[in-house]
Amino acid sequence: MKKVYLRFYGPLKDFLTGEHLTCDFFGISSCFAYQYRGRQTTRDIIEAQGVPHTAVDLILLEGEPVDFSYLVNSGDYLSIYPVWRSLKLDDEYSLTPELPVEIKFVLDSHLGKLASYLRMLGFDSLYRNDFLDPELARLSSETSRILLTRDRGLLRRRQVKLAYFIRSDFPADQLEEVLERFELLERIPEIRRCPLCNTTLEKVAKKDILERLEPLTRKYYQDFSRCPDCDKIYWQGSHYRRLEELLQKIEKKIKFIGN
Ligand SMILES: [Zn+2]
Repeated sequence: MKKVYLRFYGPLKDFLTGEHLTCDFFGISSCFAYQYRGRQTTRDIIEAQGVPHTAVDLILLEGEPVDFSYLVNSGDYLSIYPVWRSLKLDDEYSLTPELPVEIKFVLDSHLGKLASYLRMLGFDSLYRNDFLDPELARLSSETSRILLTRDRGLLRRRQVKLAYFIRSDFPADQLEEVLERFELLERIPEIRRCPLCNTTLEKVAKKDILERLEPLTRKYYQDFSRCPDCDKIYWQGSHYRRLEELLQKIEKKIKFIGN
């Protein structure tokens, strides 16, 4: 058997099993020896620990960067780093692809509420509760969409380059994770999208939809949008207010952590 020494940093520890987290090699948690057979690349070794390659931004072999195709030698020491928000690597070393100019998402079937938050913020977000794994991987790769998922298996597909593994069970926290990970607070689009179908909303004059409004909405709101696809009417009511409040909370927290 060959043996390689691995050390995982930061949020990559979330993917390790309890056994490796408590392992006390060199007195450091998440640092352990791994035995393997045959020829294996860094990518094979890392994914064998349950860590998807899409979560890894840098691999150091005794201080020198190597990529996912490096064939590991017995006795190697590998340090594996996640994407650090506050630390930018030179493109030459970074293993995660650069973000596209327009930020777009595709979400797995567990993330419907997160999809509607992202759409309300204006981010183009594909979501269906019946998308299958191969379809999600293909959509992410062919249309340069960031894949958001709670499924580790999906993150291991070779096709998937841009992706993020959602940690939280709660949509508000999930939104915070995504905005923080991809530094999106400054990139929130001007437009808004229909939370139901992802279509860009259009302004509509109040007089044109008057008969469709409930009395109280008619009384208290002036600005309305309409989804040209599903014909639903939106206004800056409680849904949007809650989202605004949530955004302000997230902004405060991200700034606090970042300083
Ligand atoms: Zn719609």
